[in-house]
Amino acid sequence: MKRFFVWFTVLSASLSACGCGNEAPEHVRSVDTAMGTVIQQNLYLSDSGTDCTEDILELIRRLETDILSWREETSEVYRVNHAAGSEEGVELSDELSQVMAQCLELSENTEGAFDVTLGSIIRLWDIDSWASGLTEGEYQVPDGQAIVQALARCGRNRLHAKSWTDAQGGMRLTLYPDTGVLLDLGAVGKGLALDYILEKIEEEPAVTGCTISVGGSVLTYGTKPDKTAWRVGIADPEDPSRNIGVLYLEGCWCVSTSGDYERYVESGGVRYHHILDPSTGWPADSGLRCVTIVAKEGLISDALSTACFVLGSEKGLELASKYGVEALFVETDGGICMTPGMEEIFHGDGTDR
Ligand code: FAD
Ligand code: MG
Repeated sequence: MKRFFVWFTVLSASLSACGCGNEAPEHVRSVDTAMGTVIQQNLYLSDSGTDCTEDILELIRRLETDILSWREETSEVYRVNHAAGSEEGVELSDELSQVMAQCLELSENTEGAFDVTLGSIIRLWDIDSWASGLTEGEYQVPDGQAIVQALARCGRNRLHAKSWTDAQGGMRLTLYPDTGVLLDLGAVGKGLALDYILEKIEEEPAVTGCTISVGGSVLTYGTKPDKTAWRVGIADPEDPSRNIGVLYLEGCWCVSTSGDYERYVESGGVRYHHILDPSTGWPADSGLRCVTIVAKEGLISDALSTACFVLGSEKGLELASKYGVEALFVETDGGICMTPGMEEIFHGDGTDR
């Protein structure tokens, strides 16, 4: 993403210097961390606008601490996980009810390749600890028996949900996870953050255009001062400091990428990545290095990038078509395949990032 970061800098400098009477939008940028990843904001504001990057960051952090975190006692996911096995169940907020309803539907539509009930197996692999850069010998790969036992505490059929209507007429869910079942929404958290950000930005008429990246998910919105397309680079899995190409996007889109090079650990000379096949409990091995999805909704782009990675390119293409999204797959032999719509927006020029 460094590429378009630099691009913005050049563009705003040349516009401010033109002296042509039309005020160039103010360009504000910020780089922060949340959800265990880097948040990069590039916003263009009209004269009347005030910098809302802090508000957007606050929104992401609230989504993490109040809803999604599996570590913080304040979050709803934490509450659900600590009530697993109880008969009373956990009544979800309006927000998490909507999200969970979409996640459960995605689970059905992906034949379980995307599954938010994988918390037990994700904890067993201890994926969070990989981010701290473990060296060879520091990590013990779980044994086959432990994986089978953890898998027995995962799966859509072990999470029971009752839907009901609240006093305002909204759809709400009460969840009843079986004993040992843990929710993990890590595969959709960043995409969901894009949906929250978009809702906020749409209420800010002063924002004329922006790109905001939350780790592997990027939101494009509005227009650039020179009216050219937003450019979002797709990393080369062989060397993520380079791009295999660039997406040219007009207006509002959510772009999510899932890859085996993003988060992994090496042990005994083998590389284990963080996208797990729910049918085996092991890192997915579907012949792919990465998948990029372009969709109108961030939750959808993020969930489908994970699901398509598990399913492989053939089933992934079918799934993309079913959801009406664009998809690009990089295979382990370096081959690239994509949906017809992706061919129109992807420029495989190998531009440096
Ligand atoms: P994606 O492909 O979108 O998701 C992969 C992640 O989803 C895996 O890491 C695993 O958690 C889960 N998963 C794996 N297989 C499947 C599957 N088949 N179906 C469904 N889910 C699957 N990282 C840190 O290091 N420290 C933190 O403090 C931290 N906090 C976070 C807080 C929040 C609220 C969120 C959303 C993420 C946080 N993360 C943190 C990052 C998190 O641990 C994952 O690594 C990250 O969400 C992976 O996203 P991705 O887009 O790279 O990959
Ligand atoms: Mg994802």
